[in-house]
Amino acid sequence: MAKRDYYEVLGIDKTADEAAIKKAYRKLAIQYHPDKNPDNKEAEEKFKEASEAYEVLSDKEKRQLYDQYGHAGVENQFGAGGFSWEDFMQRGDLNDIFGDGFSSIFDTLFGGGFGRGGGSRQRENRGEDLQIELSLSLQEIATGTEKKIKIGVKVACDRCDGSGSEDKETVTCSQCRGTGQVRQIRQSLFGQMQTIGECPSCRGEGKIIKNKCSKCHGEGRMGGVKEINVKIPSGVEEGQYIRMRGQGNIGARGGSRGDILVLIHEKQDDLFERIGNDIQLEYPISFSQAALGDEVLVPTLTGKVKMKIPAGTQSGRLFRVKEQGIQALHSTRKGDQLVKIVVITPTKLNKEEQALFEKLREHDSKRELKPGRSFLKRLKDYFS
Ligand SMILES: [Zn+2]
Ligand SMILES: [Zn+2]
Repeated sequence: MAKRDYYEVLGIDKTADEAAIKKAYRKLAIQYHPDKNPDNKEAEEKFKEASEAYEVLSDKEKRQLYDQYGHAGVENQFGAGGFSWEDFMQRGDLNDIFGDGFSSIFDTLFGGGFGRGGGSRQRENRGEDLQIELSLSLQEIATGTEKKIKIGVKVACDRCDGSGSEDKETVTCSQCRGTGQVRQIRQSLFGQMQTIGECPSCRGEGKIIKNKCSKCHGEGRMGGVKEINVKIPSGVEEGQYIRMRGQGNIGARGGSRGDILVLIHEKQDDLFERIGNDIQLEYPISFSQAALGDEVLVPTLTGKVKMKIPAGTQSGRLFRVKEQGIQALHSTRKGDQLVKIVVITPTKLNKEEQALFEKLREHDSKRELKPGRSFLKRLKDYFS
């Protein structure tokens, strides 16, 4: 497709002055901005076409060449590959045209990765986060606890004080000239485009160490062991993290420290089951305890409590012992302990017991089974 005349693109005549060119371009740029025309290839092309026309006509020299020789006259004014957004972005007058919000107009186009001209953006070498896993008993979770843990971390090299340099001398990176950034070719909305990325020579730091430290080979850090004190609040749950800021690996060459993430695991308990902040315990009692009642000692997370079992207690009945559970996370509220009664049926009877149970059976046949009454009635209804 033949290239359209730049004046025609902007909708101005050949005698238009600078202000008129700006005004025309602004109008078109806003009209065809991709934000207003999502997924509209034609609008994108128009925006690009208008920007290219503006780049030529707003420049006195280029405009003269264009007026004289047409498109052929300005072809060489663009970088390889023709008009490029990256170069266009370096213009100083975009603020005049779009106001202060101009960068946001272009950021949406380029995914925000587009800095406006020059300016260095050296990378900060933050150290890595480390993760440790911690298994806690229900007792520890109930009250909260404190643990000392030894962990291998990277610390500042003691030979070079973390600088990575034998003599603390650095030279400016020649590839990026100290900016830490290099231009890269990237595929984009508008075809091939240049973007700015991290300089591979200096890893974005802008400078290179002359004589690398012989101990850390220029990294500025070395292996070490650290003992940390982890405070675990009460009420934590399986899978939760505690983040210990600034306790992780130190960054290379004077970078900041990462964090330590402490991953919480709950140890399975032999006696207790956790239900939120309540804990539940199954407590076995005998037929006679259930029938006659008793006073028993029930274990808790912190010791034991006396509990009264009333006469006639059914298997499965839940008793609630107040505030013997887990103290809620970041709260003073305490959960309860639930005691689930399980009446145990004896399996190996001696002669005497056998005789007693048989005696009992004679009585059972005469009495109404109180709790089973509705059950028996339902059974009767079922068969009738
Ligand atoms: Zn060193
Ligand atoms: Zn560099």
